[in-house]
Amino acid sequence: MADSAKLRHPEKRNRPDNPIQRKPSWIRVKAPTSPKYREVQKLMRDLRLNTVCEEAACPNIGECWSKKHATIMIMGDTCTRACAFCNVATGMPAPLDPMEPANVAIALGGLGLEHVVITSVDRDDLPDGGAAHFGEVIRRIRAAAPDTTIEILTPDFKDKPGALDTISADPPDVFNHNLETVPRLYPGIRPGARYFTSLALLHDYKRQNPTGFTKSGLMVGLGETREEVGQVMDDLRAADVDFLTIGQYLQPTPKHAAIDRFVTPDEFESYAALARGKGFLLVSSSPLTRSSYHAGDDFRRLQAARANRLAVAAE
Ligand code: SF4
Repeated sequence: MADSAKLRHPEKRNRPDNPIQRKPSWIRVKAPTSPKYREVQKLMRDLRLNTVCEEAACPNIGECWSKKHATIMIMGDTCTRACAFCNVATGMPAPLDPMEPANVAIALGGLGLEHVVITSVDRDDLPDGGAAHFGEVIRRIRAAAPDTTIEILTPDFKDKPGALDTISADPPDVFNHNLETVPRLYPGIRPGARYFTSLALLHDYKRQNPTGFTKSGLMVGLGETREEVGQVMDDLRAADVDFLTIGQYLQPTPKHAAIDRFVTPDEFESYAALARGKGFLLVSSSPLTRSSYHAGDDFRRLQAARANRLAVAAE
């Protein structure tokens, strides 16, 4: 395991080992075994698609795939960033696969979903960071499944002027970009990213698409304080972000950032109450919450919450 991790993460070879802590009872999940899980796995292999579910070693994969909910990761399996929390391999990615948008549409047609989530590796090597490829994927899905709602979870498009305009030309139903952690921890956890670049992306997208939904996520258990999390919530509300997800950080390998602590279910509920008080339309906060966890159900809740808020405002 350690050897394969080193091969997948050559840039992380020199990091000291951080022994992986034993998970508390509220984190443990069952191994994936259902026939539907294997069906999804075969579909992804046959169409040569990557999923963040597998690449990020997501603990929810058994549950999500047994419901045929997978998050497809486009633009390859190699990322140009080296975030300390992420299990995706770092390096120089292969050229974009021109067949990928069509294959994504075929795969999603095969899964028959009402709501899909598409994410990607960071592609700092591309002039537009992959924005046009995201656009093509959205167009292909809409052509193949016009009733399917689309959520994209994008990179930060740092130093890629025009990328957001490209995304806004064919906007998704939900635009998601994760802040991941509090600004103080960025240098160690997201060294290639800048907190205010990510915040500005969310803010600018909403200004360009005022009727669209925006979403962002935080991992906790990395050493952040409650006050810092509250400040991030305020920043996200100032950027008019609608939906906040908060989940426990889990360390993929000993070469990744150590877990500072396991946040208890009660603390997650307390974070949810704090966020709701700050005005988010929707909050998902639990140990196993991930950006794309229950995304379809949450999208319907998001629509209902906005309709309700508009109705109250009109009274
Ligand atoms: S939570 Fe998201 S990344 Fe994890 S298995 Fe479910 S769909 Fe995949």
